[in-house]
Amino acid sequence: MTELMQADDLIVVSGAGGFIGAHLVAGLQARGYRRIRAVDCKPIGQWHQRPPEVEYVQADLRPAENCQRVTEGAKFVFNLAADMGGMGFIEYHKADCMLSVLISTHMLLAARDHGVKRLFYSSSACVYNADKQTAADVTPLTEEDAYPAMAEDGYGWEKLFTERMCRHFNDEFGLDTRVARYHNVYGPNGTWDGGREKAPAAICRKVAQAVMSGEREIEIWGDGEQSRSFMFIDDCIEGTLKIMESGYADPLNLGSNRLVTINQLVDIVESIAGIRLKRVYNLGAPKGVRGRNSDNSEIQRVLGWQPSITLEDGLEKTYKWVFDQLATGRRDPSMALV
Ligand code: NAD
Repeated sequence: MTELMQADDLIVVSGAGGFIGAHLVAGLQARGYRRIRAVDCKPIGQWHQRPPEVEYVQADLRPAENCQRVTEGAKFVFNLAADMGGMGFIEYHKADCMLSVLISTHMLLAARDHGVKRLFYSSSACVYNADKQTAADVTPLTEEDAYPAMAEDGYGWEKLFTERMCRHFNDEFGLDTRVARYHNVYGPNGTWDGGREKAPAAICRKVAQAVMSGEREIEIWGDGEQSRSFMFIDDCIEGTLKIMESGYADPLNLGSNRLVTINQLVDIVESIAGIRLKRVYNLGAPKGVRGRNSDNSEIQRVLGWQPSITLEDGLEKTYKWVFDQLATGRRDPSMALV
């Protein structure tokens, strides 16, 4: 519990059937919040997690009237709903990604109209200028590196536009907003198959499939030397709540600052699985920028905190979870969406 949010305040989480949204609902409940309205367009059966004792609402948040309905009576809003996925999705669905601007816009308007105390928006490291991410040993990105703007085409531009809407709703409409720029979040109960999965889950799945099938090859997208940083979901939830509660309204990086190549990520998953695989590089697959890392000076200055869960610990949990999904014959619920 914090001074800002009280146990009985109505909190709306949109995108609650997704990976981060579902963990956020669970995180809020674990911290004692009792009135949570969890909203997603997916049927409940396809949600990644279904925490008990929340008000579930299935609603498409692109139409304005649905946003008005789901924010009625809300004190706080976490807007995580977006049509998104890993590189394999955002490379080929730029228009779909940009249409999330309807969700962002109508949620901001609805929050303003209902006198919501504060709205959190989940932006992305994809807002950063592509020209500053051309080398694998990239200089970590500080918040100001989003400008001059040259965001990831489609998805990144929508995120950057909505960041600016948040700022202007703050300044001109008096709606308090908070914005985090998430850098590659991973962990159990996320998307791991079907086309929307991101690199850590995809690699865990491919390694687990190799272990189970006896196949000794793994396909890697690109040459494996592209670099990223990866944040475990528990750090993401803690950081999200800290940013929401902070007095800081500008966008903040929320990510790990440990840079690894995709090959190094595979090394770690292989050692968790106790296997070595032949790597086949698919140079034609979507790869995104060459290198991207988070500079955490600002979040450290503002919050005195930054993500700290090691990649080895986080991947161990993620690999075990993905392995279990495969071993028990489960399907990724988000596969129905692709
Ligand atoms: P996710 O795809 O698992 O969750 C997003 C949810 O939004 C999905 O359940 C989806 O059904 C829902 N949604 C999509 N369109 C909707 C609509 N019209 N109405 C209602 N709900 C709708 O993604 P995630 O990884 O949990 O990401 C959550 C947020 O964080 C997103 O805004 C994403 O852009 C942002 N983000 C995530 C990452 C990451 O690494 N996962 C990185 C940067 C930013």
